[in-house]
Amino acid sequence: MKILVLNSGSSSIKFQLFNAKTNESLVAGIIEQIGEKLSHAKIKYGDKELERNIAIPNHKEGLEIMNSLLIESKIIKDLCEVDGIGHRVVHGGEEFSKPVIINENVIKQIEKLIPLAPLHNPANLEGIKSSIEHCPNVPQVAVFDTAFHSSIPPHAYMYALPYETYEKDGVRRYGFHGTSHHFIAKEAAKYLNIDEDKLNAITLHLGNGASMSAVKNGRSIDTSMGLTPLEGLIMGTRCGDIDPAIIFYLARVEGLSIDELDSMLNKKSGLKGICGNNDMREVGEMAKNGDEKAKLALEMFSYRIKKYIGSYSAVLGRVDCLIFTGGIGENDIDVRKNSCSGLENLGISLDLEANNQRAKEILEINKKESRVKVLVIPTNEELEIALQVKSMI
Ligand code: ADP
Repeated sequence: MKILVLNSGSSSIKFQLFNAKTNESLVAGIIEQIGEKLSHAKIKYGDKELERNIAIPNHKEGLEIMNSLLIESKIIKDLCEVDGIGHRVVHGGEEFSKPVIINENVIKQIEKLIPLAPLHNPANLEGIKSSIEHCPNVPQVAVFDTAFHSSIPPHAYMYALPYETYEKDGVRRYGFHGTSHHFIAKEAAKYLNIDEDKLNAITLHLGNGASMSAVKNGRSIDTSMGLTPLEGLIMGTRCGDIDPAIIFYLARVEGLSIDELDSMLNKKSGLKGICGNNDMREVGEMAKNGDEKAKLALEMFSYRIKKYIGSYSAVLGRVDCLIFTGGIGENDIDVRKNSCSGLENLGISLDLEANNQRAKEILEINKKESRVKVLVIPTNEELEIALQVKSMI
């Protein structure tokens, strides 16, 4: 059984083909700069690579190029011989708490959710429509980033705003990175030999975007991202939690428009806003070379995480494990150390030596006596999507 996973952005398609019996990734690739003068397509399989640099005007032609590269690799005779295609969809609103087989009705519902994810859902839909056109007879499944968080109870997902903002405009916490939080929680349950539906965990997905989740009995009961991915932790370019009155204040004193403020909060804030750089590796280097703003950005980043660990410990009561993942979570030794320092009263004691490595596979980085296990688990959102597709078809 072969399953293809597509993650479609506005000018890119990332894809991965899995053998769904063994969970082995057969080939991975990317089509970039779709719609530009020169586009770039690349696949990797084993230690081999194939590339094309030509103009790819739209997602549909992107899939055709992908198909020709896959045929050339001899991994598959035709893209449409796969048993299922999984699509990452960022926003599933309240409508989708599970993956669904895509039909016209599902497409309409995803279209209706565009106001909640104006950048992502249209791009995801572009990929879905092109893929259906390309392989009309293959079952296509939408897997939503928000779905894992659909178990969050109302007292945690509601904002204390006039109730009609929820009823009329759907203003509530939805949460994102659900596929990743779910995947690492399941992996941790297997590793710790705890039934998945008994696991209590705090999951930390720390990449360019960053979010945390409180997982009780295997289900998300709270998460740091909100109506949009802007809320919560400090991120590469997003501010995370701020006093909302800052927006009105800046509009008044600086005369900034809604769009300018939106761009400031989403693209010019976070690590970049504080020290001018949003790449954690470079921020780390800058701090080591004495850059005071980079040091401050790092302190702020870990301090915010620590506050969320504290609040999710309170919410969960018993915590079996803390799980780090994402580019930063898997690789950044200092972020893990600083985020967990001084948390012994919460049962969290890091083993500094065990922490002193990057994760290629599951790492346990707590001291033996630590009540809470601290794990580093490489995320694999594509595999999780493939597994969800397999369960649907
Ligand atoms: P995305 O959210 O775009 O998927 P990733 O999960 O790939 O992001 O994470 C990107 C972040 O991970 C960047 O800030 C990058 O600097 C950081 N990162 C990647 N490798 C390392 C490393 N070895 N040490 C520290 N940070 C790293």
